[in-house]
Amino acid sequence: MSLERYEQINSGRRTAKFQIVKRIDVSSYLESDLSLKELLKVHSEVKREFKELIDSIDMPKIPEMPEKTPQRSFLWLKIKILEEMLKECNFCEKRCGVNRYEKLGYCKCGVKSYYTSEFLHMGEEPELIPSHTIFFNRCTFRCVFCQNFDIVYSDNYPVDEIELARSIDRRYRQGSRNVNFVGGNPDQHAHTILRILQHVESNIAVVWNSNMYHSEELAEIIEDVVDVWLGDFKYGNDRCALKYSKAKNYWRVVTRNFRRAENNGELLIRHLVMPEHIECCTKRIVGWVAEELKPGTRFNLMFQYYPTFRAYEYPEISRRLNREEIQRALDIAKRYRLNLV
Ligand code: SF4
Repeated sequence: MSLERYEQINSGRRTAKFQIVKRIDVSSYLESDLSLKELLKVHSEVKREFKELIDSIDMPKIPEMPEKTPQRSFLWLKIKILEEMLKECNFCEKRCGVNRYEKLGYCKCGVKSYYTSEFLHMGEEPELIPSHTIFFNRCTFRCVFCQNFDIVYSDNYPVDEIELARSIDRRYRQGSRNVNFVGGNPDQHAHTILRILQHVESNIAVVWNSNMYHSEELAEIIEDVVDVWLGDFKYGNDRCALKYSKAKNYWRVVTRNFRRAENNGELLIRHLVMPEHIECCTKRIVGWVAEELKPGTRFNLMFQYYPTFRAYEYPEISRRLNREEIQRALDIAKRYRLNLV
């Protein structure tokens, strides 16, 4: 399954989801101050309206979208909800429930978001490049082999939402095919990212480059602005996830989120093959994707693992892949006829 809608956004024949979400006026629903529960009720009503719009697939572009964005849009409502959720944070399945206005969660994030860099990335999958990649800090995982630990654990720049929105428009003019929110991980910064999108003018596809450990509550809000889910599928079982990333219930959460993602956007899956983890992880992941997701789902089988960060504390993963492991992983993927990147 190719990224058809994404390609149509790229060629200007479709509208990026956030640009539609930004133009749906919700002011008639919001006459007084509402509680989180009431906001969520309004959100599900408007979501139905949004789904009807987005499902009109025969319509190449949404012609009735107004030029100007209303002050209280569906996107505004989503931001409002996320700002409320931050008071008892359940953005990811860690569900620490902290008030992020007062203290940091397990991910070490409060309300303010930081990023390390933004640039046109030429090293992503062919359909994504040039990809305007914005690297946010922190993560909801604690991977001992983190390949981006320098990004995750630094606080380089506080996010100025308008400035980053301008950079997205500028990179679009320079040829970016998407804006790619990554890190670390984007989930814990969802409120900031939606605020940034409020100020973006370009019809640019949104890529959510995530560990797929977000909660269903977060998915309910962000899925209407994500055009492409670029999801990491790291482990084939809970034991390995707990050992290397301190993530509980990994398999249940991640498979649930991949299923949901393919029904609410387009999907590209990445799997970083790890030494000694072909049978317990690669094989199970490949089999599940082939049997449970839509045929032809794009799948990037990655062989660039190298030991870094704290990986040396684990002898079995403190080396690169050998030739036999690479071949074995390729054979498995071929046997299941995956649509490899
Ligand atoms: S994003 Fe996850 S880890 Fe971070 S505070 Fe929220 S629930 Fe906790």
